[in-house]
Amino acid sequence: MTDTVTAETAAEPVDLLAKFDPIIQTREALLAAGVEDPFNLVMEQVLSPTRAICNGRDTILLGTYNYMGMTFDPDVIAAGKTAMEDFGAGTTGSRVLNGTFRDHRDVEAALREFYAMDHAVVFSTGYQANLGIISTLAGKGDYIILDIDSHASIYDGCAMGRAEVVPFKHNDVEALEKRLKRIPEGAGKLVVLEGVYSMMGDVAPLKEMVRIAKAHGAMVLVDEAHSMGFIGEHGRGVAEDQGVIDDVDFIIGTFSKSVGTVGGFCVSNHPKFEVLRLVCRPYVFTAALPPSVMASSATSIRKLMHGGNKRAHLWENSRTLHKGLRDLGFKLGTETPQSAIIAVIMPDLEKGAMMWEALLKEGLYVNLARPPATPAGMTLLRCSLCAEHSAEQVQTILGMFERAGKAIGII
Ligand code: PMP
Repeated sequence: MTDTVTAETAAEPVDLLAKFDPIIQTREALLAAGVEDPFNLVMEQVLSPTRAICNGRDTILLGTYNYMGMTFDPDVIAAGKTAMEDFGAGTTGSRVLNGTFRDHRDVEAALREFYAMDHAVVFSTGYQANLGIISTLAGKGDYIILDIDSHASIYDGCAMGRAEVVPFKHNDVEALEKRLKRIPEGAGKLVVLEGVYSMMGDVAPLKEMVRIAKAHGAMVLVDEAHSMGFIGEHGRGVAEDQGVIDDVDFIIGTFSKSVGTVGGFCVSNHPKFEVLRLVCRPYVFTAALPPSVMASSATSIRKLMHGGNKRAHLWENSRTLHKGLRDLGFKLGTETPQSAIIAVIMPDLEKGAMMWEALLKEGLYVNLARPPATPAGMTLLRCSLCAEHSAEQVQTILGMFERAGKAIGII
């Protein structure tokens, strides 16, 4: 006898992908119905922050996170080009080894200026910022109290740190307080909130929530990914707008939205904050972003500090689109426009996909969002506005929604 595995003795292989069969079937059924694949769109050419050639068509972009339209800002592009020429294409190393270049330092200085805070640490993405900061702050034996509709990166940060996770009902101040009351005396507590929730575009009652968290001795982290740049007097986000930014211990943000590049960050006034650079694994064990991205980001952040006019125009766009869609008879995620995201609620995935495709054929791209990304099993067409959308474009968009909605039978 040898222990060589032969064809006769080999065990039946267990296909580790078999658990995804229901997802494969749903997708195949959708495509078999002749619908264009909503999760495989290609931008063949990008003409501006608000227009691209998608699948061969000239398309208005209403499903990007390019809120402030910084992707084509000439200064942002020029800074990136110069840094690439002077410092090369990439860093080839971690921030704690060879990956800290002049512009990594500069972008962290720009963040400290933008938020008027003492410390700023940049990560490779916003996802990694949440993963790293949450898992490093709250470990075994600590408690994380979080809104049940929190972003995947927040949940993944909780799982990585192995803290006890205590979710509470979305945006429910009383539910937060009830959960906090039940946590054992003396335990480490981190309350994690978002400024704007990206699926429905609604804003958190941070004023009350931060007060309650502090009254119970918890530290507070707020993810301001979808509010940086245009909510609050200086564009610092919902915590600034509601007057509680000084009571928030950690703000998480991303460069992939209003800043118009890629990267993530955390800013804080905590005197021991810098130690995180030594102990936070998603900061230490990954390559630093390219210098061109850092230089573009620093330029964009400093320009956003003077973006008052753009902010005002973005709010005007949000109000016009919200009212227009409501008047047409669409069901929206919020009663009033609260952010640059307007969620149009679809009756089901099939109708949602048909509507998404009808809009694409009209020349409009929006996000089709469905579970598990969406709350309560909803299918949404998420519209995210840009400060560079013109008033005429918003009217054109409304016309497209009207024609597509009538053709599909939603309005
Ligand atoms: N937090 C929130 C609330 C988000 O919506 C996102 C991305 N959509 C992220 C974090 C992750 O940001 P990034 O794209 O930089 O990874």
